[in-house]
Amino acid sequence: MAQAVKELWPETKLAIGPSIEDGFYYDFDKKEPFTDDDLKKIEEVMRRIIKENLPFTRQDLSKKEAIALFTKSGEAYKIELIKDIPEEQVSIYKTGSAFLDLCRGPHVESTGKIKAFKLLSVAGAYWRGLETNPMLQRIYGTCFNSQKELDEYLKNLEEAKKRDHRKLGKELGFFDIYHDEAGAGLIFYHPKGALLRMIIEDYLKKEHLKRGYQLVMTPHIMQKNLWQTSGHYDYYKENMYTFFIPDEKTPSSEGQEFVLKPMNCPGHILIYKSTIRSFRDLPLRYFELGTVYRHEKAGVLHGLLRVRGFTQDDAHIFCTPENLKSEIKAIIDFVIEAMRVFGFGEMDIELSTRPEKSIGSDDDWARATQALEDSLKEKGLSYTVHPGEGAFYGPKIDIKLKDVLKRKWQCATIQCDFALPKRFNLGYVDTDGKEKQPIMLHRVILGSLERFIGALLEHHGAVLPLWLSPIQVALIPIKDSTHDYAQKIKAELEKEEIRVKIDQRNETLNKRIREAEVEKTPYILVVGDKESEANSVSVRKRGKGDTGSLSLAEFIKKIKEEIEGKK
Ligand code: ZN
Repeated sequence: MAQAVKELWPETKLAIGPSIEDGFYYDFDKKEPFTDDDLKKIEEVMRRIIKENLPFTRQDLSKKEAIALFTKSGEAYKIELIKDIPEEQVSIYKTGSAFLDLCRGPHVESTGKIKAFKLLSVAGAYWRGLETNPMLQRIYGTCFNSQKELDEYLKNLEEAKKRDHRKLGKELGFFDIYHDEAGAGLIFYHPKGALLRMIIEDYLKKEHLKRGYQLVMTPHIMQKNLWQTSGHYDYYKENMYTFFIPDEKTPSSEGQEFVLKPMNCPGHILIYKSTIRSFRDLPLRYFELGTVYRHEKAGVLHGLLRVRGFTQDDAHIFCTPENLKSEIKAIIDFVIEAMRVFGFGEMDIELSTRPEKSIGSDDDWARATQALEDSLKEKGLSYTVHPGEGAFYGPKIDIKLKDVLKRKWQCATIQCDFALPKRFNLGYVDTDGKEKQPIMLHRVILGSLERFIGALLEHHGAVLPLWLSPIQVALIPIKDSTHDYAQKIKAELEKEEIRVKIDQRNETLNKRIREAEVEKTPYILVVGDKESEANSVSVRKRGKGDTGSLSLAEFIKKIKEEIEGKK
C-alpha cells in the first residue's frame, strides 16, 4: 500500500505502518486528504504490484547508513524512528527495485503471495499519538488468504455496525449516557436495561451462594489511609476520584480525604481481618456486586465497554496453598457454565506469568503459576502463555469470550495475589498452630456487568435468550371485550414470575404484533373471544411466527420449562 501511495503521490512522506489485530494501517503525511476514490486508485496499483510478484529482500544496515539512505529520499519520519531504535543495526526491506522501507520483518517472499485485501477507511492520527505533533492520515486495510475469508470478514464488519450496542441500547430502551448533563462514561439504565441487569444480578447471586461464596457489601467511599495501605493511593491515584469531607471539629482544616472506591479488594480484606482465622475457615469466598469508579481519559470511553463507573461480579478468595488448585478449577467451571447459559460458545484463554519486576518468593510464583496451568490442563482447555505479562503481584488467567462475529470480549479473570495479604498483614492459624499468610485470589466471572451487557447485546443482536428477556410475553387482546380475559392471563403469568406486558392500545392488531416483534419479544399471545371461551392462548413465537393455540396451562408449563433450562 505504501508503495502504491508513493507511486501515485510521490511527495507523500511515510510515517509508520504496522500490522494490527485484524489487518494493518499506514500513516502518511500528505497535504490533500485521501478520498474514497483515492482508496480505489491505491487498490488498483496494489493489485498491479501483486501481479508483478516482486520479491521482498532484506538488508541489514548500520543506523548511520540507514539514516543516510532515508535522508536521500527525504523520509524525515523514518529518520526519527531510526534514531529511537536502541540496536546498532536496523533492517530495511526492498520491494523489487521500486520501493524500500524501514522494517523489522519478516515479510512474505514476494508481493505475489498477497491474496485478498481491501482498504477500509481513512482517519486522522497524530504522529506518535501526540497532539502537539503533526496530524497525519491513516489508511486502514485488511488482508486474508482467500477472497472467501475476506468476504466473511467484511460481512461481519457490516453486521457489527448493525449490532453496535450503543445503537441497539438506545433503540430498544436499555440504556443511555448523558454526556452533557451528567458526564461522560456514566451509564443510565432505563427500565428495560435495569430489568436485564436485575435478571443477571439475581442469577449471579444465586450461583455464587450455590458455590459456597458468601455475599458481602462494602461502602462506596472509604478514607484515604485504607488506599495507602493497599498501595492504590500511590500507584493508581490518576485513576481514582478523591475528595475531602470537612472536619467539623477543625473547620479551618481542609478536612479528611476520601476515595470513591476503584476496587473492592480492600473492603473484603477488612472483613477477612475482622477476626482471627484458622485453616478450618479457609477457603473463604467473599462475593460482591461491587460498583467501582475509575477515571478513564475521555478519548478512550466507548459505550458500555469503557466507562468511568461500573459494577463487577467481584469475589476474593482467601485460601491456603493446598486449596489453590481446587479453587481455580471451581472458578473455571463457573465461567464455563456462565458462558453456556448466556449463549456464548467459544473462549480464548491466556495465562500470564511472572514479569521481571515482581514481588513474592520464587516458591510462591512457581506454585501459583503451576496451579493455574494445571487447572487449565486438567480441564482440557487450550490456552496461550504470555510470558512476563502477569501483574507484579502474581500470575493470572484471562478468559475472553468470542462472539458470533469472532470478536473477543474480556470477561473472566483469575488473579493470584501475594502483595495485598502482605500489605494488610493477613494471617491464619495453620494445622501446626503457626500463623501463616493466606493466598488471595481476585476473580470475576462476567467482569464488568456494563461491558458484559454490551457484549451480550452485540452477540445476540439484542435477540436475548428467553430467560434474559426483560419482557418475555406480550399479551395482545384483539378487542375491548377480551381485555378482562387478557388481565386474567397477565395475573396468572405474573404469579409464575413470568415477565409480561399487555398492549391494549386502540391500535390495529397487526400494528401491535409488529411492535412487539420489533422489540424482540420471545412470545406474543393474541387473545380474542375464541381463546377467552376455551381458556386458551394463540401463540406467536419469536422467529417462528404463529405456532397455533395452547391451553393457558400448557403454555405456562412450556414457557417455564424453557426459562428454567435457561433457553
Ligand atoms: Zn480484587
